[in-house]
Amino acid sequence: MKVAIVTGGNKGIGYGIVKGLCEKFNGTVYLTARNVGRGEAAVAELKKLGLKPKFHQLDITDQNSLDTFYDYMKKEYGGIDVLVNNAAIAYKVTATEPFGEQAKNTLHVNYFSLLNACHTLFPLLNPHARVVNLSSSAGHLARIPGQKLKKKLSSPTLTEDQLSDLMKQFIESATEGKHQQDGWPNSAYSVSKVAVSALTFIQQHAFDADPREDLVVNAVHPGYVDTDMTSHKGPLTIEEGADAAVYLALLPINVKSPRGCYVWSNRDIVDWVKGPTPGPY
Ligand code: NDP
Repeated sequence: MKVAIVTGGNKGIGYGIVKGLCEKFNGTVYLTARNVGRGEAAVAELKKLGLKPKFHQLDITDQNSLDTFYDYMKKEYGGIDVLVNNAAIAYKVTATEPFGEQAKNTLHVNYFSLLNACHTLFPLLNPHARVVNLSSSAGHLARIPGQKLKKKLSSPTLTEDQLSDLMKQFIESATEGKHQQDGWPNSAYSVSKVAVSALTFIQQHAFDADPREDLVVNAVHPGYVDTDMTSHKGPLTIEEGADAAVYLALLPINVKSPRGCYVWSNRDIVDWVKGPTPGPY
């Protein structure tokens, strides 16, 4: 039995992705959420639509939760066929927390915890598994003003450790209030999503050398979507926002492209270094 997993599936785009996978994926779909009550309520909603997702608790910031989930998946299914790394946070523009704190917390969830989730769960990926990392239009390299940083982030030899070091440097700069001087943008969310995009390219390199056949990972900008994160200002429905991610989760066996790409909400592959992007959203 094939199995798909979505992190942060209780609401927003993650919920839309679970819904889309329930409709299209030939296997079991796990809606995971950090909060059991919210997760089970979301599963109950989908069941009312005649869909049959399963639920498991998963907080990507909690290594115990990740390990428990790993053990469960290993025992019940032996492997994973689809992993959608959707869970993330974003401070509102009106947030009053100091920027250094925003940088630390945003990078902690959106980059370092996503990375931990991958380190924990990638050993379970079956041949032909598909991984989708939710990036953003804010995760395009063009969002980084500093030329030296741009060069480092887009280096084809960049390693995970080097990328993580750059993110630690961003948090330090932000804490000292000199991140803009150091070439970073004034948005911790944007930096976290640039890191998710860069990580995706590194991960595909590793997949290409993996003995398991045909592992594919892509980063996706879902569009500007009507969710809590955007304070419901985005014009797209969660189903529209889920479309490209679901497409990437279901890429056929031995697909030539996209592999290790930055993919826009309309499914176009976008050049992460040179652009242009099909639109602001
Ligand atoms: P929401 O804020 O609506 O939902 C985020 C989801 O992530 C919630 O289910 C939330 O759970 C979950 N989550 C947060 N922290 C954790 C954690 N530690 N462990 C597990 N789950 C967690 O966001 P969206 O649906 O709008 O965004 C989904 C993804 O799409 C994100 O990666 C976002 O950055 C990206 N994106 C969104 C855009 C948009 O226009 N909406 C545009 C570009 C990218 P809980 O309910 O418990 O808080």
